[in-house]
Amino acid sequence: LTVPDNPIIPFIRGDGIGADISPVMRAVIDAAVQKAYSGKKKIAWMEIFAGGRSTEVYGENVWLPDETLDFIKDYHVAIKGPLTTPVGGGIRSLNVTLRQTLDLYICLRPVRYFKGVPSPVKHPELTDTVIFRENAEDIYAGIEWEADSEGAKKLIDFLQNEMGINKIRFTEHCGIGVKPMSKAGTERLIRAAIEYAVDHDRKSVTIVHKGNIMKFTEGAFKKWGYELAAKEFGAAADENGKVSFINPKTGNKIVIKDVIADAFLQNILLYPADYDVVAAMNLNGDYISDALAAQVGGIGIAPGANIGTGVAIFEATHGTAPTIAGKGLANPGSIILSAEMMLRYLGWDEAADLVIKGMEEAIAGKRVTADFAAQMEGAIQVTTQEFGDEIIS
Ligand code: NAD
Repeated sequence: LTVPDNPIIPFIRGDGIGADISPVMRAVIDAAVQKAYSGKKKIAWMEIFAGGRSTEVYGENVWLPDETLDFIKDYHVAIKGPLTTPVGGGIRSLNVTLRQTLDLYICLRPVRYFKGVPSPVKHPELTDTVIFRENAEDIYAGIEWEADSEGAKKLIDFLQNEMGINKIRFTEHCGIGVKPMSKAGTERLIRAAIEYAVDHDRKSVTIVHKGNIMKFTEGAFKKWGYELAAKEFGAAADENGKVSFINPKTGNKIVIKDVIADAFLQNILLYPADYDVVAAMNLNGDYISDALAAQVGGIGIAPGANIGTGVAIFEATHGTAPTIAGKGLANPGSIILSAEMMLRYLGWDEAADLVIKGMEEAIAGKRVTADFAAQMEGAIQVTTQEFGDEIIS
């Protein structure tokens, strides 16, 4: 990515607490960039619209204007706050629409611990995992039919009469969904995960799956993943069957392994240090992302990005939290750390490092937002904006 010193970056403010956290994020990022590059670089923020705020600007029922999608494609990088998805009215989740329209096939969720953040596990500091969740396929592809619908009836008829499948209790009252997983879809995700491990000198890439039960989808994900690691990175098994290759950039070994999803969720709680980069299919990845986020402080501080080819949207991972909106109670940590990921994507690591340092020191200073203050001994509750000011100072 060639990045000018004054890139235009579109942002979607978001609804609910989006209005609280988005300006704080921009202030923190501007301060970090200013300090890191002594004013030689500066982001030009450009507001674009989606969700409830879009209906205010573009008119009723315009939840995701085409213009917004065009801006994101044209400028390659964007950052967004949480969006209200209208209930009913045939509109699918705006987030899913964004992912599918722009083919953002990687959902990237780094899970790292900031010292002092309240956690339900004994050793949260051992968690340093980066999750690559496949974002476009699996049961989330949205190929499903309501019970009694024409589609469900036709599919059931086909399965029973043409495929001879009777082992499941198909009745006319039967919702039915399809779980597609392609080799190409698997390969691009696993390739991105392994490349990340190479670039960041990580020790292992773990493929998480339920291939023991779903052999030709989840099992294929594992099989194609190992095959890709062998073909493109030269991974090979040693005499004990352990698969690895040597990182060409550092000379260190990168292990490729796999684990069944349910065992993974137990293991990551007990032995978090065993997992480094993790690659998972869509549904498993969704569960894993939130479970791991909870271990290191919850969704208020968990960052994320949806990445495709030449286009990436960095986003707060939580929702609009309507009950605390406008009250200065929201933690801006999730969107700030998502913006930190964005700075690294731009290659502005010096500014990203300052954001992390600011976050570490603000939390250590125990002047934190309500979600943390309630659980941290000796902490003083500050507003969303004051927490941002702590990070900046
Ligand atoms: P939510 O994430 O908004 O809230 C869940 C809980 O976490 C609430 O108790 C909330 O107060 C708290 N919380 C969330 N973010 C916080 C923060 N930054 N600081 C402190 N506390 C925080 O989830 P929900 O209540 O299920 O959804 C509310 C709305 O958000 C719905 O309209 C939903 O569709 C939407 N939503 C949007 C996204 C998105 O745009 N990415 C994601 C999830 C939900």
